[in-house]
Amino acid sequence: MHHYQNILLAIDFSDYGHYVAHRASSFAEKFNAHLHIIHVLDNIPMPDTPYGTVIPLDEDSSDDLLESEKNKLTKISDQLDIAPTRRWMIWGEPQQEITQLAARKQIDLIIVGSHERHGLALLMGSTAKEVLYHAGCDVLAIHLKDH
Ligand code: AMP
Repeated sequence: MHHYQNILLAIDFSDYGHYVAHRASSFAEKFNAHLHIIHVLDNIPMPDTPYGTVIPLDEDSSDDLLESEKNKLTKISDQLDIAPTRRWMIWGEPQQEITQLAARKQIDLIIVGSHERHGLALLMGSTAKEVLYHAGCDVLAIHLKDH
């Protein structure tokens, strides 16, 4: 079996985030791989900041929303014992930043969550699908049931 060395967990802080994180952590342990984590900031206005900008986690900012997002990433990274140098918060579009970081960091497996989609949601693109389409490495979609 192929042994993954660098696994990237993409986390969105939804209710399912912890489940996806837990599964990613088990995979990393199984393969004795380095676990990296990314949260793409796409929900806070960041005027004058170009997509792809890495947001430092160890610098205080005056924006409460941003601080709260950083704290969430720090907390889950601490829980999973992810080294500070493997934690990434990047401003931009999730699928783009996830696949670009994966290419830059020689990631060989990206782990995302994938929801069951019904009705109108079927018409909208899913992050998992976009990541799979654009990634240059393997992608594991953790199936998330809506209950
Ligand atoms: P979605 O299809 O957008 O509901 O997202 C499915 C999965 O994509 C989530 O479980 C995450 O693994 C990943 N994802 C979505 N949004 C983000 C984000 N802003 N940053 C990092 N990963 C994300």
